[in-house]
Amino acid sequence: MRNDIHPDYKNIKASCACGAEFEIGSVNEEIKVEICSACHPFFTGKQKLIDTAGRIEKYKQRYAKHFEEKKEA
Ligand SMILES: [Zn+2]
Repeated sequence: MRNDIHPDYKNIKASCACGAEFEIGSVNEEIKVEICSACHPFFTGKQKLIDTAGRIEKYKQRYAKHFEEKKEA
């Protein structure tokens, strides 16, 4: 291998939004992810909605009245 053309491959910590940390090898200083194998519904087996832009709340607000009327009927 030639010297000085390869970035350093080092052990760093990757951290997830859920708080999980992983030791991984990378040429980057740090890695941050929003979802990982510890919190992704595919791996946890739990159904979890990932509501990034508050879309679910907006939907609920918009149709709150509609659902109220349904209940009474
Ligand atoms: Zn995670």
